[in-house]
Amino acid sequence: MTSLATASRARLWLNPALRASASRQPDPDFGVDAISEAQQRFARFAPLLANLFPELGAEGRIESPLLPLSDDERHALYGDLPGNFYIKADHALPIAGSIKARGGIHEVLELAEKVAGEHNLLDTGDYTTLASDAARAVFSQYSISVGSTGNLGMSIGIMASALGFTARVHMSSDAKEWKKARLRARGVEVIEHAGDYAAAVASGRDSAANDPKAFFVDDENSRSLFLGYAAAIYHLQEQLRQADIEVGPHAPLFAYLPCGVGGAPAGIASSLKAAFGDDAHCFFVEPVAAACFLTRMQHPSRPGISVYDVGLDKRTDADGLAVPAASELAYEQMRNVLSGVLTVEDETLFADVYRVHQSMGIRLEPSAAAAISGPRMLLSTTEGQRYLRTHGLDGDVAQATHLLWTTGGLFVPDDAFEGFLERGRQAV
Ligand SMILES: *Cc1c(COP(=O)(O)O)cnc(C)c1O
Repeated sequence: MTSLATASRARLWLNPALRASASRQPDPDFGVDAISEAQQRFARFAPLLANLFPELGAEGRIESPLLPLSDDERHALYGDLPGNFYIKADHALPIAGSIKARGGIHEVLELAEKVAGEHNLLDTGDYTTLASDAARAVFSQYSISVGSTGNLGMSIGIMASALGFTARVHMSSDAKEWKKARLRARGVEVIEHAGDYAAAVASGRDSAANDPKAFFVDDENSRSLFLGYAAAIYHLQEQLRQADIEVGPHAPLFAYLPCGVGGAPAGIASSLKAAFGDDAHCFFVEPVAAACFLTRMQHPSRPGISVYDVGLDKRTDADGLAVPAASELAYEQMRNVLSGVLTVEDETLFADVYRVHQSMGIRLEPSAAAAISGPRMLLSTTEGQRYLRTHGLDGDVAQATHLLWTTGGLFVPDDAFEGFLERGRQAV
């Protein structure tokens, strides 16, 4: 049976299954303790990361700034819409240049810790010894592979090869040349698949399943990725405190999270809900043609449903979000947690890449620009107004904080970025 409920135009969809925190059962596998373990893992590895990646500075922290929009910047993006606007600048995350630096690096560190433990490499407790020749010789016997056309491959590939693992990234042959080149320069094996990419990735997954020295990072079903994303909450809370940003019943926090399979935004959203409860309101943003999470949310009894099943074609130039079906793991975690999903046209993404560059000098990739649409859809659509009313927030819009979670862009080469700007200039 085919349902055409997923509209082929930009819209805001509100989740009828959203539940108040008090009426939800937290899943301990993804709860506060699990997120805290991920954060502690990043902390244990920080001295090693600082040695391996000088761009992290002495603290070895993989974190991004929180950037307030000035009045002029706000005006350029939102005209007279009320509220306080901040960019959470994951587009500038070091090492991978995208939000994948959080989840992807966390999963590689978790695997490294496991291997190191089995080989007694951490008996002194000094993680910097994992950069020694002896440790690298051990890691090199293990492989870490991933199927990705882009940012996840960059994150996993760069981190795995930095530790000495045999790193393999399966890519479709239409993946961007510069991404392949960047990975190969770091010693990552890039395997290109001309034909059925999904089948090739599945066979990579199967062969890893039968080999104890081969790990496969599964974007659609990974608790480690999820928790790595979720750990963003610790630094964000510090940043909110430092900026004197209050979050409470009459000072709501709205977060707009670009969504592909859903793992990254779901990790972030669950940590925001863990920290701020019902005062955090999380919205995913997807391209109209690749609205896989929206499709899944609209069909609660159809696990695995794809955008093709509802008459969409998945064709978008937001390559980080060009995904046909949602992660079931992310869906399960978000079913009663997500406030809604909004969809945007590609031309809007490019227009926002252009506007953000013009007004703030920031370089976003089109996927990351999806976050920018959030406040417009919430504050100036009928559905958005309905959400505010239902939650008793229509009097609180001036005290609201809007977090625009920009998810990638740092490493986009100049010529590709010029192309984005050109297209955006025509779209504004
Ligand atoms: C991967 C990615 C996302 C979304 O993450 P998912 O886990 O696929 O939902 C958003 N923006 C960018 C730039 C990405 O690379």
